[in-house]
This record gives sequence, C-alpha cells and structure tokens, in this order.
Amino acid sequence: MNNYELIKNIGRKFNCVPVVPEDARKIFSNTIIYSNLHRIRLVTWPLIITQLLIIPLIPKSMSYYCIILIGVLLFFLATSSLPVSPEGITRRHKFYDNFMFPFILLIYIINTVLFMADFIPVKFLTPVMGIIIAMFCSATFLYITLYKSILIYGVTSLILIIYGWCLLPNSIALANSINMTFVTVLSIIISRMIYVMRIQFFLKQRKIEQQKKDLITANKMLYNLSYMDALTNIPNRRYFDKALNREWNRAVRDKKELALLMIDIDYFKNYNDNFGHLAGDNCLKKIAKTLENTLKRPGDIVTRYGGEEFAAILPDTNLIGARHVADSLCNAIRNLNIIHPYSSYNQLTLSIGLACRRPNNGELPKSLITAADDALYQAKHAGRNRFVGE
Ligand code: GH3
Ligand code: MG
Ligand code: MG
Repeated sequence: MNNYELIKNIGRKFNCVPVVPEDARKIFSNTIIYSNLHRIRLVTWPLIITQLLIIPLIPKSMSYYCIILIGVLLFFLATSSLPVSPEGITRRHKFYDNFMFPFILLIYIINTVLFMADFIPVKFLTPVMGIIIAMFCSATFLYITLYKSILIYGVTSLILIIYGWCLLPNSIALANSINMTFVTVLSIIISRMIYVMRIQFFLKQRKIEQQKKDLITANKMLYNLSYMDALTNIPNRRYFDKALNREWNRAVRDKKELALLMIDIDYFKNYNDNFGHLAGDNCLKKIAKTLENTLKRPGDIVTRYGGEEFAAILPDTNLIGARHVADSLCNAIRNLNIIHPYSSYNQLTLSIGLACRRPNNGELPKSLITAADDALYQAKHAGRNRFVGE
C-alpha cells in the first residue's frame, strides 16, 4: 500500500464513509442519479408555478426571461422522464443530474436578486436568500458527493457574499458573510450525512439481495437433493409419490384418465455382474435420459422408481395413448443398441407394464401402481422386451 492509499484509507475511516465495492459502483451511481432526478423533477414544478405567478408582477421586458426559463424547465421535464428502474439510466440523465441542480440554484439566485428586491427591504435580502437557499438545498435531499456539495454550496454562498459587499453597508455585509458561511457549512454537513446514509442503505439492500439469492440457490439445491435422483438426474421415488398423488387428485377433479407405466430393464443383474457396476450405472443414466427425451407432452413425468426400475406418469392419457407411449419407449431403448450378450435379445431391452384409470373419489392411487405392476409381471413372464397393458 503506497502513501496515497494509506492517507485515503485513514481519511475514509475518519470520515466513516462505507466503501461501495468496485462491481457495484455503476449501479450505485445509477441509483443516485435516479433518485436525484426524481426529486429535481418534483422541484421543477413549483419553480414553473413561481415563474408564472411572477410574470404579471414584473416589467414586460423582464417577462421574456421568465418565459424562456419556463420553456427550459418544461423541456427538461419532457426529456428527462425516468426509466422503470435505475438500470435504464442514460447519458442524458447523467447530464441532467450534473447540471440541473446548479442551474435551478442559479435561477433561484437570479429570481431573488431580480424580483424579490422590490418586495423585501434590501438589508434583509441576502440573509433571507441564504437561509432560503440552505433550506432549499437540504429540503430537496439530493445525493451529492462531498466535492460536488463544496463546489455548489461554496459558489452559491460566494455569489451572495460578493453581492452583499457590493450593495449593503459594510456591517450588514459582514453579518451576511458570517451567516452565509455558517449556512454553507451546515448545508455541506447535511448533504454529506445524507450521502453517507444513502451508501449505507444501498449496501444493506445489496446484502439483503445477496442473501435472498443465496437462499434461492440453497432452496434449489435442497429441492434437487430431496426430489432428484443423484445418479440419473431425473426425479426420484419421493417425487413420484408426490406427483402421482397430485395427478390422481387432478384426474378425479377433472374426470380425466390417468395412465401409469412401470418400466424395468431386462436381465440387468446379468449386465452388472458381467460388465461391472460402473458400466451398469452408465446404462441407467443413458436409459433415463432417453426415456425423458422420448416423452413428448410437457405434463408427462418419468421418475426413477428404484434400482433399474422407472415409472412414467401420463396425465390425461387413455389406454391407446399409453400403449403408444410404451411402444415408443421400448423402441427408443432398442435403438440405443446397448450390447448385452447375456440377454436373450443380445441387447438391453425394457419390459413395461401399464395401467390406465379414470379415477373416482373412493379409489387410491395405490390401485394404479398394483395394476401396472401386475402388467409388468405379465410382460416379464411373456418373455420380456415388450409392454403389457390391461
Ligand atoms: P429382470 O429381467 O427379471 O428384470 O432381471 P433383472 O436382472 O433386471 O432384475 P433383478 O431384480 O434380478 O436385478 C436388478 C439388478 O439391477 C440388480 C442390480 O445389479 C441392478 N441395479 C439396481 N440398482 C442399480 C444401480 O443403481 N446401479 C447399477 N449399476 N445397478 C443397479
Ligand atoms: Mg427390477
Ligand atoms: Mg430388471
């Protein structure tokens, strides 16, 4: 760490200013511009109304100034409309954020100097202005950096101090200078405090957002751990139980049919015994993926029921549809052409038992599982590599 950074760090600690991390600077600056512009736009309306009220009271030659000013302010309002969120802040907004606040302050000074002189005795003029401007600055609650606030409030008070020394008796000008200096320092301190508070708020908000994201990720992970099968990456038995109950109740409610396919790999023990469990695991992964890809409807669900058995739930599907799906699943696995010399078909094949119901209120989903299981048993006994359904 070089000397400059050391001094900067000490300064930061002394100043109690939290540091916005590098990656959040842009969004922070956009957020600041967003809130500032929102407030400046609000302040613009009373300013326009004041100008309109002033016009009938002042000489005609001066009213042109007011009209031009109203035009500029209306142009600002028309072209500075804010995006939905701070991410949409453009260079035009940045420009307005930099120049509109000093511009409005300038209008304020000019207005006071030009027009208020007629209504307020001159010896009260500059102190009144100072206080009003200070109130204006703090009341608008703009978020500006330390350097910017020193510059803006400093220049404003300097103009008014010089103005006082030019127009007022020395003793009043001196009092005015002291007042203005006090008001300026106060404005800078207030503005600083507000800015620091804004940074703290931003950082807190960011932390909450991060925690929210972490929570969502943790929840997703938890969901995956409890409902997904770690080997095949498809839903597991726990998910099957939940999904079958859900679809069963839906079918009862909608008076629709529900089909269930119990799928079992043929002679898989032989495969494992001869090629090893790792090769067996790879087959399970391939088969799970193929089953998942072969099911076409978004509502269809394939799960790993256990070991080398899978179960597919097909909502709103009749017997013909279920048989069609079973046929395409058997074909898809045959097409994988996984060599299995210890099977009577010389390749890995499936046996599928299917059952279909239009469930009524009294029945339990278990009856569908039993029916599909019985059908699977028949498919095995009939020689495997086939589907059997009621
Ligand atoms: P069938 O044609 O009658 O279905 O005979 P099978 O050998 O496929 O059925 P069995 O129930 O006798 O054996 C199932 C085998 O599936 C036992 C085990 O070797 C294998 N298996 C079960 N789960 C896994 C697993 O997670 N990984 C691996 N590699 N093999 C598994
Ligand atoms: Mg089995
Ligand atoms: Mg088997």
